[in-house]
Amino acid sequence: MLTAEITAPDRVEVLDRPLPKGPVGSSDLRVRMLAVGICGTDLSLATGLRTPPELPWRLGHEGIGEVAEVGSDTHGFAVGDRVALEPNITCGRCEYCSLGMTSACTSRLSAGVLTQPGFLAEVVDHPSEFCHRLPPGMALERAVCVEPLAVAASAIRRTGLDGTETVLVLGAGAQGLLSIFSLVAQGYRPYVSEPDGGRRALAVELGARVFTPRQCPAPDVVIDAAGVPEALGAVVDHLAPFAAITLVGEDHHHLGASSFSIVQKQLRIKGSFIYEHPRDMAEAVELLDEMPTEKIMGPALALDDVPAVFAGKGSHRGENSQPGASPQSEVTSQLEITPLLEVTSRPEVKQWVDMRLRTHNAHAMH
Ligand SMILES: [Zn+2]
Ligand SMILES: [Zn+2]
Repeated sequence: MLTAEITAPDRVEVLDRPLPKGPVGSSDLRVRMLAVGICGTDLSLATGLRTPPELPWRLGHEGIGEVAEVGSDTHGFAVGDRVALEPNITCGRCEYCSLGMTSACTSRLSAGVLTQPGFLAEVVDHPSEFCHRLPPGMALERAVCVEPLAVAASAIRRTGLDGTETVLVLGAGAQGLLSIFSLVAQGYRPYVSEPDGGRRALAVELGARVFTPRQCPAPDVVIDAAGVPEALGAVVDHLAPFAAITLVGEDHHHLGASSFSIVQKQLRIKGSFIYEHPRDMAEAVELLDEMPTEKIMGPALALDDVPAVFAGKGSHRGENSQPGASPQSEVTSQLEITPLLEVTSRPEVKQWVDMRLRTHNAHAMH
C-alpha cells in the first residue's frame, strides 16, 4: 500500500509498504482511508520545527475512512461504515482521564504526531473506541474537518462563553475559520483580524466582521489562532479589561503581549490543547452536519502530490499558519487597511488528500 512518510528533514516521500498483516486486532477497526487533512502540525514535523519520533515517519492525524474489517470485540460498527479517526488515543485510567480531562492523559498515544504511524496510508488499523461513525452522505471535504473542528470547538467550549461577549478571532487560517464557524453556530458574529485580504474576505463570508481597533467595541474574548505574536500584539491595547484570551492549537511562538499589558488589563490567558475523548470528536461530527466547511477547503490532492506540499517549506515557523500564509511581518502593517470585501480568488485555506486519487492531480497543485 502507498503511504506518505517523512524520510529526512524537509523530505516527504510516497512509499510502497506492506498492508497490515493477518486479521485486525480484536478491539480495532481496519479502515480503508478516504481522506486525510494536512495542517501546520504536519508541516512542523516535516520541516524539523518539531522532531518526528523516528525516521521514516508516517504523517497524517486528520483522517476519515471506510471500515474494511471489524475486530471480534468491537461493537456498533459494520464493514462499509464511514468513520473519522480520533488520533489521540488516551488511556481512560490515569487521574486526568478519570476526571474526563483526557487531553492531559499521562500516557496519551498520538497517531501521526507522537507515537503511532499516521493516517496517510491506504489502510490503517485503529482502536474502535477512537473511531466516530460519520453520516453516510457527508461529503469527504467536509468530513475530513472533524478533527481540526474538534480542536477549534473545544477551545471555544473551554473559553466558557455566555452568549453576550464581543469575540475577536485572530487569524483566518484553518483554525481561525473553524473557530468562526463554531462561534457563528452559537449565534455570535465574531470580529476577525487577519492580514491576508482573501482570507479576511472568506472569514466575512462565513459570518465574521473585520476588526478595526478604536472603531469596533473592545473585545472581551479573543480566540488566538494566528500562530504569530504580532497578531495579539496589535490588538492587546484595544481589549476590554479582564478580557479572556484562549490560544488555539499547538504553536511555538511567544505571546505578543507584554506582562505590563496583561497586568494593566487584567487579562486571563488560557491554552487549549486538543479536545476531550470522546465528547469533542463526537460533537464535531454532529456540528459538521450544519457547517459548510467545504468552503475553506482547497482542491483534493492525490497522495502523489503530498511531497510537493511540503517541499520548500523549511522556513515556515507557525503551526497554525497554513502553507501560503502571508509573512508575519505583514500582520501589523495590514491590520488597519480597509478590507477587500469581494472574494476575487478564493483562498484555499485547508489542504487535504483524497486517498482515492491515485495519479498526480496536477490541477490541484495550482
Ligand atoms: Zn492537525
Ligand atoms: Zn489517561
